[in-house]
Amino acid sequence: MMQHVRLEIRGLVQGVGFRPFVYREAKRYNLTGFVANTSFGAVIEIHGHDTELFINSLRENLPSGARIDSLDRVSINGGHNLEFEIRSSLEGDGNTVIPRDTALCAECERELRDPRNRRFGYPFINCSDCGPRYTIMQIPPYDRVRTSMKHFTMCDACEREYTDPNSRRYHAQPIACPECGPSLSFMDADGMIIKGDPIQEAVKMLVSGKIIALKGLGGFNLLCDATNYDAIQALRRLKHRPRKPFAVMFDSLQEIHKYTNISKYEEYLIDDAIKPIVIVHAKDSNNLSVNIAPGLDRIGVFLPYTPLHRLLLDAIDFPLIVTSANVSDEPMMIRSKELLGCFGNSLGGIINHNRVIVNALDDSVVQAVNDTTVMLRMGRGHTPYTVQTKKSVTKRILALGAHQKNAIAIASEKNLVLSGYIGDLETIQTQEYFERTIHTFERFYPDQRMVLIHDMHPHYYSTRYALETNYEHHELQHHYAHVLACMAEHSLSQKVLGFAFDGTGYGTNNTLWGSEVMIADVHSYERIGWLKPFALLGGDRAIKEPRRIALSLLFESHTLEEVLSLSSPAVDAFLPYEIRQLHYMWSQKLNAPMCSSMGRLFDAVASLGGFVQTLAYEAQAGLLIEKYVDKAMCEPFEFLTIGEEIDVRPMIAQIIALESSMSDKEEAKRIIASRFLATVEAIISSFAQRYPDLPIVVSGGVFQNRTLMEKLQMSLNHRDFYFQQKTPINDGSIALGQAWWGIYNL
Ligand code: ZN
Ligand code: ZN
Ligand code: FE
Repeated sequence: MMQHVRLEIRGLVQGVGFRPFVYREAKRYNLTGFVANTSFGAVIEIHGHDTELFINSLRENLPSGARIDSLDRVSINGGHNLEFEIRSSLEGDGNTVIPRDTALCAECERELRDPRNRRFGYPFINCSDCGPRYTIMQIPPYDRVRTSMKHFTMCDACEREYTDPNSRRYHAQPIACPECGPSLSFMDADGMIIKGDPIQEAVKMLVSGKIIALKGLGGFNLLCDATNYDAIQALRRLKHRPRKPFAVMFDSLQEIHKYTNISKYEEYLIDDAIKPIVIVHAKDSNNLSVNIAPGLDRIGVFLPYTPLHRLLLDAIDFPLIVTSANVSDEPMMIRSKELLGCFGNSLGGIINHNRVIVNALDDSVVQAVNDTTVMLRMGRGHTPYTVQTKKSVTKRILALGAHQKNAIAIASEKNLVLSGYIGDLETIQTQEYFERTIHTFERFYPDQRMVLIHDMHPHYYSTRYALETNYEHHELQHHYAHVLACMAEHSLSQKVLGFAFDGTGYGTNNTLWGSEVMIADVHSYERIGWLKPFALLGGDRAIKEPRRIALSLLFESHTLEEVLSLSSPAVDAFLPYEIRQLHYMWSQKLNAPMCSSMGRLFDAVASLGGFVQTLAYEAQAGLLIEKYVDKAMCEPFEFLTIGEEIDVRPMIAQIIALESSMSDKEEAKRIIASRFLATVEAIISSFAQRYPDLPIVVSGGVFQNRTLMEKLQMSLNHRDFYFQQKTPINDGSIALGQAWWGIYNL
């Protein structure tokens, strides 16, 4: 019997070769009708006999990058299409799913290297399965006329592929070739174009130890030889980044194996369709420069993800440092003018091109925890992240996130969308990027901003932004938002036992929190545990100096004279008069705000154990502790739980005794690091045992510690245990948690 059906599909169906796939399937089953992108996904109308077979096949044979979240079908009254066709986009209801950028696919890579192919060596090759998407998109729905590819008119050959349903590039919006598409140039430090092959010119510079810039997918990169100590040192000076690790791009998985010890699962992460940066264990001896990750045994590795990176790696025989072109943690630069103004003189040159980057985007950073993934920075390929919500929101919600690692989120209709990594809202550049991202979201979801949700911290830029608008706004506690973020990723709305362990966040009692144990659902939370508060001596300065945190904890259990006579690396890190001054500060509560942060406790242990006294970058204490952990050593230190307060003074005493009694300091570090992680695990399990029936949720920067997560995954494997795998486990998903609360409460 002849049937007439209309299908509305939501999910990841744009920019992933979905429409050509639908076309081929429709032809296979002799159906007429059409498929079109809409702002919510795609709509298909089919007329014919085998509509059921067609629908089954849609689900079963879906292209690898696509995902169907929902498929709504309605019968319609006939239709008069003679053919099946792909229509240009239909306007829709604003429930937009935005396509994500993917790495160069294997088929395009083969063509790139095939001298007989017309795109041989062409740095902008792409297809229906791969290439730029979000980074070139101005407004949805995703069609060439609404991307920065609109400036390039297709040549006849490209047009034929674009319109041929049997071509790999059927409706590939960024389709291009050397005849009609974007082109590359090489500029010197003054912005003058240098004649010759841009790749070869760049190689000359890299070989001679120079730093070059390259216009990548989501912004400019800075590049140098990863085996050249001095080149990396110059890069560190240029970026004001004295010690923080750099990521290294390798030619192939085989190359990565030479320098690192990676598991099968890590191999899979490194080589997936996104090709993110993956943090892995470096081999003890390798000829990479020690300047890549000073003092650490972990490095971030990745593979070339655009044809341009691929061509460059093919032309050299050493791995490359590839880092965003920015100063410290400012946003990536997307314009060559800006880049020249900032770095010009220090660069050997710039590989530039004329395809405009519309939306800046950093690389994604992930790490493996056993055989699962933890997202550390959500950027290229994972952005924007969309969750389909069961509950439809009546008010549009814009969640503004936190201050560090900011990202924003928007909830509209049945979609919750989290932006990519924006950064720390410390500088004007990052604040502008924050506002630009809000405007991008407003462009994607027009006229829909109604309610704002922000953090409770009065000094956060995101809080001030919310308070300065005329919109209705609500504040939400930081650590509750952490727990909610994990719940959002896993679509949880029931009661959970949540652990939010992080740096510091604003509590409801005007103190800084950061070790929250809570019973929470989507409406409210009850705080049932936290570390006994201690003072941050000197406020923000304490956050950069673990020795100050250690000293503060020592003051909690010793007199000044006792502290002065203690044998401990934390005490040795000060002159006696400094300790007297800090003690005065502590006793008079002068610039010594109280906090209960687990992240700061890591700092204190790092100081007392002699790992580090002053931090060069945020995560350094945790990474150094992790380096020394021996997983077999799992006897926790002692701690007390008095009411809700967890008192770690017994642990501090044990650490001091251990450290001062051992002459082998390296061995002391191993014991302290291992037993400290075991203590954190023991704190978590002591609460977990009290609530045997609740699902367990962990979130917050402390859980970026891979060893801690691996241990928890093992010890809690008999429980419902949730952590974030697709969204950042740190402050990067505070906005997601805020929006999740908004969906249920506004
Ligand atoms: Zn491709
Ligand atoms: Zn062309
Ligand atoms: Fe946090």
